[in-house]
Amino acid sequence: MLGSIEAGGTKFVCAVSDSELTIIERISFPTTSPVETLAKVIDFFKKYDEKLKAIGIGSFGPIDCNPQSEKYGWVTSTPKPGWTNFDFLGEMKVAFKQPVYWTTDVNAACYGEVYAGGGLGLSSVVYYTIGTGIGAGAIQNGKFIGGINHTEMGHMMVPKNPNDDYSGTCPYHQDCLEGLAAGPAIEARSGIKGQDLAPDSPYWELEAEYLAKCLYNTTLMLSPERIILGGGVMEQKHLLPMVREKFKELLNGYVETPEMATYIITPVLENNAATIGCLALAKQLLVD
Ligand code: ADP
Ligand code: ZN
Repeated sequence: MLGSIEAGGTKFVCAVSDSELTIIERISFPTTSPVETLAKVIDFFKKYDEKLKAIGIGSFGPIDCNPQSEKYGWVTSTPKPGWTNFDFLGEMKVAFKQPVYWTTDVNAACYGEVYAGGGLGLSSVVYYTIGTGIGAGAIQNGKFIGGINHTEMGHMMVPKNPNDDYSGTCPYHQDCLEGLAAGPAIEARSGIKGQDLAPDSPYWELEAEYLAKCLYNTTLMLSPERIILGGGVMEQKHLLPMVREKFKELLNGYVETPEMATYIITPVLENNAATIGCLALAKQLLVD
């Protein structure tokens, strides 16, 4: 059996599957203090005991995922109370003797989509989530991109629309991509939550523009085979065609990309991408 911990800033999803990744049991609970939250995680997996062979963790971050670092396995500079500099992986290793794979929630989602979803058969894919924040995971030639640590593409700078007088929500950079285009920015700018904002609102034009700028940067910097856009904001079905259109305009034919319908997509595994990714990463540990 394989275990998955999708550790989100809002909620945790834990699952166990058989070796073919068929899910046997799954639970979800809100992310509270580390002690309380991890107690629930440990309870969930303990009942599988010896049958559980490996666990994959995809965590909210920033995290440290450089095995050479002293803080490897920690959740680091998150503003989330109690989680700053928390040794998540260390606590898991105390509780479980099974091998544990440690990466970001968005890397896990990217891996899931490549393993069994919208990136199947591809080796260079980027996955963005546009929700409470903007995060990205990227696989290039079958490996997660990273150096001293994981990437943070959700905080890239994008040129601001001159008519946008909103200052941005990012506590670190104000008007980075996340600051201008994550769910809370849509709400702060318009006064209405994204899920309640009318599809013909001009704020969606602005949202599509910022996401298109992000995809422009992503395309030119990484040349992926596909870009997958997930997260709550992308539930707005009218947004994807607008993003594709604005992206094409911006790129202006400078490089060739696959057809928009296959190049920029939403997750095929929907909300399961990270869980499937964590299970697949756990499975991989048993092969390596
Ligand atoms: P999280 O990022 O916390 O895991 P979500 O991906 O659901 O969770 O992101 C929550 C953010 O996305 C909120 O700012 C919310 O207003 C926005 N959001 C959630 N659902 C929708 C929707 N259907 N349409 C537009 N915005 C949404
Ligand atoms: Zn930022």
